[in-house]
Amino acid sequence: MTVRNSVTPRAAGEVSHYDIETDVLVVGYGAAGASAAFEAAHAGARVLVLERCGGAGGASAMSGGEIYLGGGTPIQVACGFDDTPEAMAAFLKAALGAGADAAKIDEYSAGSVEHFHWLVDRGVPFKPSMWDVPTWVPPTDDGLMWLGENSWPFTELAHPAPRGHRPTANDFGGKLLMECLSSAAESAGAGALFDTQVSTLIADEGGSVVGAVARQYGKEITFRVHRGIVLTTGGFVDNDDMLAAHAPQLLGHTKVSAGTDDGSGIRMAQSLGAAVRHMSAGQVGMSLIPGLAARGMVVNALGRRFVNEDTYPGRIGQHALYRQNMGGSWAGDDTAVWVIVDEEGFEEVPEPQRWGVRPTHVAETPAELEELTGLPAGSLTATITRYNEFACRGTDLDHHKSARWLRALTPPLAAVDVRAGVRPPSEAGDRRGTGASVFTLGGLHTDLDGHVLDLDGRPIPGLYAAGRAANGLHGFGYISGTSLGDSTFFGRRAGTAAARRA
Ligand SMILES: Cc1cc2nc3c(=O)[nH]c(=O)nc-3n(C[C@H](O)[C@H](O)[C@H](O)COP(=O)(O)OP(=O)(O)OC[C@H]3O[C@@H](n4cnc5c(N)ncnc54)[C@H](O)[C@@H]3O)c2cc1C
Repeated sequence: MTVRNSVTPRAAGEVSHYDIETDVLVVGYGAAGASAAFEAAHAGARVLVLERCGGAGGASAMSGGEIYLGGGTPIQVACGFDDTPEAMAAFLKAALGAGADAAKIDEYSAGSVEHFHWLVDRGVPFKPSMWDVPTWVPPTDDGLMWLGENSWPFTELAHPAPRGHRPTANDFGGKLLMECLSSAAESAGAGALFDTQVSTLIADEGGSVVGAVARQYGKEITFRVHRGIVLTTGGFVDNDDMLAAHAPQLLGHTKVSAGTDDGSGIRMAQSLGAAVRHMSAGQVGMSLIPGLAARGMVVNALGRRFVNEDTYPGRIGQHALYRQNMGGSWAGDDTAVWVIVDEEGFEEVPEPQRWGVRPTHVAETPAELEELTGLPAGSLTATITRYNEFACRGTDLDHHKSARWLRALTPPLAAVDVRAGVRPPSEAGDRRGTGASVFTLGGLHTDLDGHVLDLDGRPIPGLYAAGRAANGLHGFGYISGTSLGDSTFFGRRAGTAAARRA
């Protein structure tokens, strides 16, 4: 770890002068920061948000805007789906993986309908219509989508209901979401300083956080904070030192961020004894078209299937990157993943929904496709034969893909190399990515009200966190919408708690 950006806390006794005083200081103006700022200001506190970039947004503004909501939202009801907080919690506990925070999931699920209304009241629009096919982002303005709830193994664990809620937008909805949240925070009275990067926290002798030091255009500014500081600085995918130390499997992949996820908030809190959780966990988005994957097969470098292709597409990536080496026998490239599809499956996905993806190879027989792709001789032939047997029976005995998507593959067959990315091969030229886009899920250990906890599980007085600076709901799994979901939900809780601190 470099000491280039030292986060060593400053002792309050050494600070002779404060430039600015406030009750609540929010560090970072993404979805978590805007939600915290709104609630803190709404609770009557003087609130200032410090943002290192020239405006509010962060990764939140670049995002698809999907928010994981359920338990019977008006959108679910209008689209004809029953849901309960209990079913939502059961799904999330399974889907967010080992170590997911059960208490947070219960709270989040129980409060989800209220949170939906809170978002709507802040101006976030959701259309009561359903997009019913696996995708990353619907190509329409439909407001509801499945995120794997209707796929195995979750169908056996919880009553399935679609919970992907997306702000009404014809493209990525994150920009609109952030416009709504930041103008809500501003209207509630929260102030903001941009181009202002916080580097260090100030703590008193008793260990309470009482201020922060930031730089703006090369000048140092000191802030005295009377109630609390909420760290909403995002994750650490842009910090290769931290990735190497905590999440080496995420190194070298495309970073899903606004370029500011340097882990600064996590490190500042750690310097005051904060505990962290699940620092090796990450979201892994393979560059595949979910509609093609569901209609075909996804195979690894051994030509073998490894997951049900109709699941939430991020789960395919997580299985590729994290699960293949179980047992230690795997010597292949985790991201050498191929989507195998026949002509009918390919044509069923309308051209605009293929995001520029074209077959890397086309062949008349599985054996020919093995040769072209370099997959082991006989591997694809065996996998396709077995898959087609399952399709004839209507039951996928290996990976439990639902009957809706199980259809025998008929030559000619196409293979799409996910490492080519979601661009036409002609545009990609020789440049091949790893095929995986990642961000971190690990972060500060917080309680339900966003207090940052120390190594003994005690709150560090005056210090709060939310969004990807915190671990939030997640264990080692991820479902789209849970990042913006827990950022906004627990951002609100952290803002309220900070404002109410005596
Ligand atoms: C293309 C894309 C699509 C995505 N789609 C979805 C989706 O549909 N649903 C979903 O749930 N998630 C999605 N995500 C992930 C999601 O956007 C992020 O995980 C989430 O926005 C994190 O919110 P945040 O408030 O914690 O961080 P951010 O929104 O990144 O905000 C953090 C802010 O803190 C600022 N900051 C950092 N350090 C400092 C410092 N030291 N001082 C001052 N300011 C600082 C940053 O500049 C930034 O503005 C997507 C991400 C991307 C990039």
